[in-house]
Amino acid sequence: MNEAILTTEEIVVVGAGMVAHRFVESLISRAEKPMHVTVIGDEGLHPYDRVGLTGFLRGGTPQGLELDRSVFDDFRVRFLADDRVLRIDTAGRTVTTRSRRVIRYDTLVLATGSYAATPEDIDGTDLVGCFVYRTLDDLERLDRYAAARGRVAGRPLRGAIIGGGLLGLDAADALVAMGIQPSVFPHSEHHTSRQLSPSDEREVTALMEARGIEVRSGVRPTRIITESSAGVSALELDDGSIEPVDVVLFAVGVRPRDELARNASIEVAPAGGIVIDERCRTSEPHILAIGEVAWFEGRCVGLLAPGLVMAEVATTRVLGGDAILRSNGDPSMLGLRSVRIADVGESGRADREAQEWNMSSSRAGGSGITAGRTPRVRALQAI
Ligand SMILES: Cc1cc2nc3c(=O)[nH]c(=O)nc-3n(C[C@H](O)[C@H](O)[C@H](O)COP(=O)(O)OP(=O)(O)OC[C@H]3O[C@@H](n4cnc5c(N)ncnc54)[C@H](O)[C@@H]3O)c2cc1C
Repeated sequence: MNEAILTTEEIVVVGAGMVAHRFVESLISRAEKPMHVTVIGDEGLHPYDRVGLTGFLRGGTPQGLELDRSVFDDFRVRFLADDRVLRIDTAGRTVTTRSRRVIRYDTLVLATGSYAATPEDIDGTDLVGCFVYRTLDDLERLDRYAAARGRVAGRPLRGAIIGGGLLGLDAADALVAMGIQPSVFPHSEHHTSRQLSPSDEREVTALMEARGIEVRSGVRPTRIITESSAGVSALELDDGSIEPVDVVLFAVGVRPRDELARNASIEVAPAGGIVIDERCRTSEPHILAIGEVAWFEGRCVGLLAPGLVMAEVATTRVLGGDAILRSNGDPSMLGLRSVRIADVGESGRADREAQEWNMSSSRAGGSGITAGRTPRVRALQAI
């Protein structure tokens, strides 16, 4: 990676998700010298709690999910909502947005997160009634569709979650809260293997089934069928059977939003993700990357905690100090709205894969960084 002296006068952050919010919060609370921060977010919303998104379908409000507003109200911060950065000019050190703003930076922080993926081996994923589960906008559209479809059907709707994992189970539980009867079609038999041991998975599955969620591990959807403009009507399964459904949700993982970096010739991993070193530096001297879009030690991590640690490392870097990312092999805590899984490190594969990330040093800008870790508890409990 290039070594460069980073100035702090004009800091531009692309993306206004949870990790960007933490970065700005940390920066303004730790900065002792003057600086100006511009945050550009394309969602048209103040940053919100994506981890708590399911709460919206349980009667929550967008306002209820908002992260601390005072951070962006700070006199040093300018927040440009509902705009998207389309181009980075690394030579001129500017970004250009959809609304034709050209903004100069001394340090650029890319916190662009991920797209929700859709399965490539299933036909019909773009039909009316198919949704991903990533943004507040996704959930608002799902909510409106389900309400309208339910009025026409005059009966409880049937939902299908394609893809399992904890996100799939969380989504299924959200459908139950909406009065929809969901079935989950996991991509593999042991679909939470990155997060849970087989015995914990059995326990979670039993909890889900007790809540009316059917987990269909033995079959795979091959095609989504529609019979009218009203939306999806059925799934075709690989055993030849047809499963009636009114709404389909995909929970098959994420794709890093690395296109800005790619187009600016910043190094991107072959499988996606902006390559960073242990100081969150990209291959371009004045550009850092943090959060889900960042590829570190062989992967992008679709969890919040590593992103928050990266935000702290980047803050320290911008303030002229030195801090490094370190993965020490300890497990991460994964949260789920309906069940709580803790101490995932005791599960076989998760033990090897799950990592708790932290910083090994901080020579500037304060200390006492926690990155929002949750206490470890050996428990699997309904909440
Ligand atoms: C339903 C759900 C439940 C989850 N539960 C958990 C959990 O229990 N535990 C856990 O650790 N993690 C969980 N996660 C994952 C967690 O939410 C993410 O890891 C975290 O939010 C990533 O934050 P981020 O800021 O890196 O990216 P994002 O949250 O994706 O934010 C990136 C932002 O940048 C914007 N953006 C992208 N490109 C541009 C551009 N060019 N110009 C302007 N703006 C742009 C995007 O629209 C987005 O608003 C969950 C995710 C979901 C969807």
